[in-house]
Amino acid sequence: MAQVGKDSFGNNYIENLKQNDISTEFAYQTKDAATGTASIIVNNEGQNIIVIVAGANLLLNTEDLRGAVSVISRARVMLCQLEISPATSLGALAMARSSGVKTLFNPAPAIADLDPQFYTLSDVFCCNESEAEILTGLTVGSPADAGKAALMLMGRGCQVVIVTLGAGGCVMLSQTEPTPKHIPTETVKAVDTTGAGDSFVGALAFYLAYYPHLSLEEMLKRSNFIAAVSVQAAGTQSSYPYRKDLPIHLF
Ligand code: ADP
Repeated sequence: MAQVGKDSFGNNYIENLKQNDISTEFAYQTKDAATGTASIIVNNEGQNIIVIVAGANLLLNTEDLRGAVSVISRARVMLCQLEISPATSLGALAMARSSGVKTLFNPAPAIADLDPQFYTLSDVFCCNESEAEILTGLTVGSPADAGKAALMLMGRGCQVVIVTLGAGGCVMLSQTEPTPKHIPTETVKAVDTTGAGDSFVGALAFYLAYYPHLSLEEMLKRSNFIAAVSVQAAGTQSSYPYRKDLPIHLF
């Protein structure tokens, strides 16, 4: 679901969805705000600084959710983050949970006083190092640190916690396997890491939806692989590989 403005960015957004065979039924265009934008600066190591102007993103509301209830209640997975209003994200997670739909939450960009219901409504809670630091107050610079942060976050009520570590892969923790496990990733030449987290979380949503029989560790190995492909090309969405360009063993 999305709200975009009636402007050229909004038109391009809708067009891009159509070109990729993604339904635009719940991508609304409003004249009350401009399309949200993100200005991104990338350094020579491929690291980034992003300035987000939320714009129309903040207009997506719980009424919009109610209009999509028949689709949400039949979904395989509900993936939410914080680039829309937290109240709308929370409403979407609650709606999904009440229909037995698996919930995946990515607290990006992080807010320190996150509503506690985000934890209890998350089957899978997936954050990066800086988000883990903001949410826990711990310093997160290693897999061991990430494990400590994951334990703290799981104590707040999630079923599974994943902390991504950039080139270090990720750390996983679940109610059924409550010892943090580090899942390293490929060593690649990163050109632009912008959007790596979205690539990772998107891949994970795909595996949760279509390959639910895989172990969590296997899903994360494959998500690491796909995100590592994305950091080897410039841009965010433009760096994400199509399924046809990925090795067959991932499917
Ligand atoms: P975010 O983009 O939210 O800051 P991360 O930087 O933690 O998130 O990256 C998310 C995932 O993308 C990592 O867990 C890893 O799988 C992959 N990734 C990111 N940077 C690299 C890199 N330099 N080399 C290989 N994989 C990477």
